[in-house]
Order: sequence, then structure tokens, then C-alpha cells
Amino acid sequence: MDKKSIPKVYGVLGYPAKHSLSPAMHNAAFRALKINAEYKIFEVKPEDLDYFLHALSKENIHGLNVTIPYKERILNFLDWDKESLYLKQIKAVNTIALEHGIWKGFNTDIPGFLKDLKENIDPAHKSVAILGAGGAARAVTYALANSGAEEIFIYDIEKAKSQDVAKMIKNLFPNFNIVAVENIEQLNIQEKNLLINATPVGLKNTDPCLIKEGMLNKDLFVYDLIYNPKETKLLALAKEKGARISNGLGMLLYQGMLSFKIWTKKDAPEKIMREALKKELEKCQN
Ligand code: NAP
Repeated sequence: MDKKSIPKVYGVLGYPAKHSLSPAMHNAAFRALKINAEYKIFEVKPEDLDYFLHALSKENIHGLNVTIPYKERILNFLDWDKESLYLKQIKAVNTIALEHGIWKGFNTDIPGFLKDLKENIDPAHKSVAILGAGGAARAVTYALANSGAEEIFIYDIEKAKSQDVAKMIKNLFPNFNIVAVENIEQLNIQEKNLLINATPVGLKNTDPCLIKEGMLNKDLFVYDLIYNPKETKLLALAKEKGARISNGLGMLLYQGMLSFKIWTKKDAPEKIMREALKKELEKCQN
């Protein structure tokens, strides 16, 4: 077989990763643009990660999305240039690409989240409350601080994590007001413009709603990064209170489109990727 006819391989690296919707979205885009490539799921155990990363070229892998729990471990594997060093500080690389023999790191969650959010609300001068301080929250807080939000109050069940995010933002934006709070009440959600859920709470239908009804009001915009289920208990409650809401499906689509462009240097086919995602989501709900 001549080398040109061997498909380039892309995929999502995580553990667990088998429920990812990304293969449907990327493979539909490869087919539509007649790109000789395929997108796979690489569910790799922590003890096998080093072996996997050193075998990428053998598998003809040219790019990966990186998800839980590898967003930090992947940092040591990458080559850093001046432009991308801030990503090392945010510890939020979700896309890697092989460029001229070098593995480079990118974050497409940051612009993906912002594009989706801005279709609903401009974060400039807004007061924000964030639930959760993991990998996604790091990207979200950076995106908000960098686009002129007024202030961020952040809560995580592990206080050290929210403090770490606050420290990271203070290092990057010394004048920005970010407060790591001790409990959900201290988020003062009633006084905020925007509430963001960046915890996994809501993924399971047995999960509680972290927010009490009295904390919400109709002037709030509530964004839940979760997209499956389409409407978490938090979003349902917010809607009931008259607040505007969004789930994270738009973010998933836009981050995927941006990763696709990094890998292929071609504009991602939005309509095809959106439809593929919706179809795959429907399958999960059946
Ligand atoms: P993660 O790194 O595990 O972070 C989640 C954080 O929330 C952890 O620090 C976790 O603490 C904390 N947490 C868990 N339960 C909590 C509670 N009851 N109250 C406060 N904090 C709590 O996960 P992630 O990668 O940031 O992802 C977070 C969510 O965003 C997931 O649902 C993921 O599917 C979603 N996401 C969506 C997109 C999209 O494109 N729409 C992209 C990325 C992520 P512990 O570690 O102590 O449990």
C-alpha cells in the first residue's frame, strides 16, 4: 500500500473515554471533505499512557483530543513555543497535533466555550459564579478573565482546587478579581449575571441539583457545560425561574471544529458536525 492511501489517525485519549461523541462528529467531517483520515477512541489506562504516547507514530496518529485524566500528564510530552506557554500555566491542553515532527499543544475549549457563550451573552463586565475548578473550569475562567468579565467567584468541593485556579488567574491577570469561596452560598449567585456549572454533577439523573431554587432569578444566564442530558436539573430549575439557559453542546461542537482545523488546516463543516453530534446524542438517549 502506498503511504498516501494509509489514513491518518486522530482520536480522543482518556480514561474512561468510550462514551465520547467526538468520533461521530469528526468522522462525519472527514467523510464530507473526503479527507483520508479516521477518528478513534483511545481509552488508555494510566499505567499504559507512556507506552501509548511513545507509539503514536507507529499507529500513524497525527492528532488527539485529550480528556480526563490526562490533561496534566500530557503537558510533559509536548514541545512548547513562546505563544503556547500560557497553556502550560493554565494546565489546560485539550488538543495535540503533530506539526513538522513536533507535538504541539492547543486548547480549543477556551475559544469554543467563548464562541458558544457569546451567541447568548457577552461576558464583558459580567459578574460570574462558577461551580467546579477542574480542567474545564480552568479553561472557562481563563476565557472569561481574558474577555473582560468583571469578577469571578469560584467554588469546588475541594477548596485547594478553586484556590489553585484563583492563583493561576491572578498570575496571568494581576488586577482581575477572582475569589475562591468556601461554599455555594458564598458564590452570592443572586448578585451575579452568569452562573456556570463546570462540575460533572448532573451527568447522572440520580445526581442532586447543587443550587437551591432561592439562589436563582430571571436575570441570570445559566450555562451548564454538560450536554448529555440536554437539560440538567440545574437548567430545568433555572428555566422554571425564568432565567436564560444553555447546555454545553455548542461548546463541544465549536471546540471540535477548532481541533479539526488545527489538524487538517481546513475549515470544519459546521452543519455536518452539528447534525452528526445531534444524531449521536439521540442514540445515547434511546
Ligand atoms: P474535572 O477535571 O473532574 O473537574 C470537575 C471538578 O468539579 C472537580 O474539581 C470536582 O472535584 C468538582 N466537583 C465534583 N463534584 C462537585 C460538587 N458537588 N461541588 C463542587 N465541585 C464539585 O472535570 P472537567 O474536565 O473539568 O469536566 C467538568 C464537566 O464539564 C464534565 O461534566 C464534562 O463532561 C464537562 N465538559 C464539557 C465540555 C463541552 O465541550 N461541553 C468540555 C469539557 C468538559 P473532585 O475532583 O474532588 O470530584
